[in-house]
Order: sequence, then C-alpha cells, then structure tokens
Amino acid sequence: MKKITIAIDGYSSTGKSTIAKEISNKLGYSYVDTGAMYRAVTLYAIENNYFDDEDFFRNLLIADLDKIHIDFKYNDNLGYGEVYLNSKNVESEIRDMNISNKVSVVAQVAEVRRAMVAQQQKMGQNKGVVLDGRDIGTVVFPDAEVKLFMTASSDIRAKRRFDELVSKGDSQVTYDEVLKNVEERDYLDTTRSVSPLVKAEDAVEYDNGEKTREQQFEEILYIIESKI
Ligand code: C5P
Repeated sequence: MKKITIAIDGYSSTGKSTIAKEISNKLGYSYVDTGAMYRAVTLYAIENNYFDDEDFFRNLLIADLDKIHIDFKYNDNLGYGEVYLNSKNVESEIRDMNISNKVSVVAQVAEVRRAMVAQQQKMGQNKGVVLDGRDIGTVVFPDAEVKLFMTASSDIRAKRRFDELVSKGDSQVTYDEVLKNVEERDYLDTTRSVSPLVKAEDAVEYDNGEKTREQQFEEILYIIESKI
C-alpha cells in the first residue's frame, strides 16, 4: 500500500494526539507529536531560568538552540514514542500546567519554529507518518495527502484536558484555570505572526465535540483510506 503523510492540525486539546496515535498504530505509521517538541523547548527554558528575564528570554533561547536535542523513542507498552530532551525522558513532565502556560510564548519565536520545523520535516521525509500540531498542513508538510483540522468548543476541550490532568493525579488544578489556558493558547496560536494556526485550504474540518473516540476513529480512518 502507498505510504502517505497525514497532517492533523487544530486547536489545543481537541484530542489530536489521541487520534494520531490510534491511526498511526492502525496503519503501522510513525507518529510525531510536534506540540511535545515545543513543550520540551519550554521545559529547557524553564530549567535554565530564561523566564526570569522577560525581555531577554528570546535571545537566551535562540543562543542555546543547538544545545536542545529532542528525540522520540518508541515505548512498546504505551504504543507510541515518548519525548526525550537531551536524552532524558520528559514525556510526563511536559504536560504540566506550568509548561502549558508558557509554551505558546516559546512557540512564537521564529528561530525556535525554524529549528523544530526542520527536524519535523526530517522525521517525516520517508512518508508513512502522522504528525499533529498547528502548522503541519500549512508549513511543515503543505503537500500532505491527508489534512485534518480538528475543532471543538473551548468548554469541551477544557473539560477533557481537566479530566486528563486529574486522572494523572494533579489535585491542584481547577477547571477555570484549564479553560483560561486553553483560551489563551487559542489566542496566541491564531494571532502570532509566524505560522499562525489556520486551517489549510485543502484541510477537512472535523468537529469532534460531540463524537466518541470510536466514532472519530472510524470516520477519520475512512477519510484516510480514501487517499491510500
Ligand atoms: O499540541 P500541544 O497542545 O501539546 O501544543 C502545545 C503548544 O505548542 C501549542 O499551544 C502551540 O503554542 C505550540 N505548537 C505550535 N506548533 C505546533 C505544535 C504546537 O506552535 N506544530
């Protein structure tokens, strides 16, 4: 069967990564969680105290970009690749609220984007790959054979993210805090000057607000199979 590139873009917490993992496993494709890469860069910036200086964090980050190495290593038990920052597994750490609260500022930095996009293009150069993010169908792989643009209301998305954080043991987080974060990221991601989140002209818009996981899987697989 012909191998293709599948680009899944959309707003925060629309379940892009869940569907991307399921589809990549079903097709035997690799999966690249590009949001995890921006989150890993953000973790690096926090660990190195770059945010202590609002004015200079960009310069510090840009100067250090070649010291930030991000890889994915497939975990058989989980069924997807976990993200590593400079050889350390940071898969769980990068999902914390303190990262979510800063990642969209880091993702606005043009030099950071350039470096991440180059790595993503390399990871997907042989096709047979599912990537999820914000700019996959517009910038990273504008020629992707399948492009999906996932949406759902901010209330539904915040509820999903809140439930996920609670199920992972976060007892401090509140729903209002998560909703605020989701809305702030939507704003920053759609209004930034470099590669803003926008639906590619040829992307299929898919609102999954009222859909079960199974429905999404069936419907999205159907869209993909028509292209293979
Ligand atoms: O997908 P996730 O919610 O983990 O992404 C975290 C953040 O990383 C997004 O809110 C966005 O600011 C940024 N991002 C991006 N471009 C991508 C993937 C993520 O700007 N391709």
